[in-house]
Amino acid sequence: MKKLLPTSTAGSLPKPSWLAQPETLWSPWKLQGEELIEGKHDALRLCLQNQLQAGIDIVSDGEQTRQHFVTTFIEHLSGVDFEKRQVVKIRDRYDASVPTVVGEVARQKPVFVDDARFLRQQTQQPIKWALPGPMTMIDTLYDSHYKSREKLAWEFAKILNQEAKELEAAGVDIIQFDEPAFNVFFDEVNDWGIAALERAIEGLKCETAVHICYGYGIKANTDWKKTLGSEWRQYEEVFPKLQKSGIDIISLECQNSRVPMDLIELIRGKKVMVGAIDVATNTIETPEEVANTLRKALQFIDADKLYPCTNCGMVPLSRRVATGKLKALSAGADIVRKELLNK
Ligand SMILES: [Zn+2]
Repeated sequence: MKKLLPTSTAGSLPKPSWLAQPETLWSPWKLQGEELIEGKHDALRLCLQNQLQAGIDIVSDGEQTRQHFVTTFIEHLSGVDFEKRQVVKIRDRYDASVPTVVGEVARQKPVFVDDARFLRQQTQQPIKWALPGPMTMIDTLYDSHYKSREKLAWEFAKILNQEAKELEAAGVDIIQFDEPAFNVFFDEVNDWGIAALERAIEGLKCETAVHICYGYGIKANTDWKKTLGSEWRQYEEVFPKLQKSGIDIISLECQNSRVPMDLIELIRGKKVMVGAIDVATNTIETPEEVANTLRKALQFIDADKLYPCTNCGMVPLSRRVATGKLKALSAGADIVRKELLNK
């Protein structure tokens, strides 16, 4: 991207209330059949327009066509029984009733490729598409077939690679893998998590990103954050190996987080999507607050590699708050961009 400090969002954005219950995760659709397909397309167009008007440079679908960033992808695969459910602890944090892996997992047909093609037709701006990461996928399932987290993650990595190649062919510029699980299972990340991620990006020519955050602003996550102490050093565990990986961009939570900014030094050389918008509060950042976070990050990231972003997805927020935050992100980036160009 030629523009200095190009802005983007980490992932999901609020859905219109005629499509799904707002401010809710796993919100059920309000439409059915053909109406639902048309409604999703309309929401995607609206969401794109909203990003463009707010001045976002690298745009996305805002995940308008999916109920959840992990579940919706898995729903499209064979080998997973959504009727057979078990309670597991997700990311060592909260109990959830999850589907069961009952046989070999496979992708029978493309999952998001048509949606990506549709988005591509609507804009000339660079587009980013998010997929769940292999480790985060296995963490939301009960596995009664492979009985090995590593083996299942590897199978998912192969499936994600098939999808990613088709997204690339559909014109996606950046494919992002969401791996909040990288902030929890450090030994596994280093043993096989990053290797699985690299399997997922094998052979891709477009840019690739990994998003590692402390989760949506839901209670289970905010309660967990309270237990993490005054300094959040989770990134330190996985950065050295990520720095050596083939991933181009690393997307991080920095705004209002207790992550010491100097940890970013450990991924020097990578492009970094710096979360400068807190998604766990309804308070809209001022452009100056955003600019401050970006200035701090600039101590550890070369200016041409800094991509201002949000901490995480914004689907649990109201549209008014999310739009305000997008505008603050652009305005804050603009302040720092001008400072850099006037140097
Ligand atoms: Zn996130």
